[in-house]
Amino acid sequence: MAKLEILELPDARLRTIARPVEAFDDDLCQLIKDMTETMYHANGIGLAATQVDVHRRLLVLDVSEAQDQPRVYINPRILESEGSETCEEGCLSVPGIYAEVSRAERVRVSAQNPDGSFFEERLDGMHAICLQHEIDHLDGKLFVDYLSPLKRRMVTKKLEKQRKNTSPKATQVML
Ligand code: ZN
Repeated sequence: MAKLEILELPDARLRTIARPVEAFDDDLCQLIKDMTETMYHANGIGLAATQVDVHRRLLVLDVSEAQDQPRVYINPRILESEGSETCEEGCLSVPGIYAEVSRAERVRVSAQNPDGSFFEERLDGMHAICLQHEIDHLDGKLFVDYLSPLKRRMVTKKLEKQRKNTSPKATQVML
């Protein structure tokens, strides 16, 4: 297994819209393993392929307390969403920045497994939030896009500043 490099804002490759996964082969399985290892190593609870510069529609996540229940969603599609929930989010591609974002509280998602078979799930809580955050990545979207222009400018400044000095705290939740 190999740890992959995670792209960080303002890298323009994070704005790429990912294409569907078509080949359910050994390369895909290897990518899933590498992405999962990269996510754990970075203390993240989710990682989209876009973040490791692979522009295909897949993501991994693990919202379990013990970080021992990795999940993979290939070609995920949100079929239904309801309610609204606000959560403080962070992102491995936007290190050190946390902000409140409103998302749907419950979603119904369809996706494929590594063998190409389809499944459907209803999600809520952190699992639903994480999935929506990662699907956004596949569409070239970042959580800071939901902030007001003023807040976004503050984020850009903070990122520039911390690129020169400190490293992000490892204890907070990053998706
Ligand atoms: Zn993210």
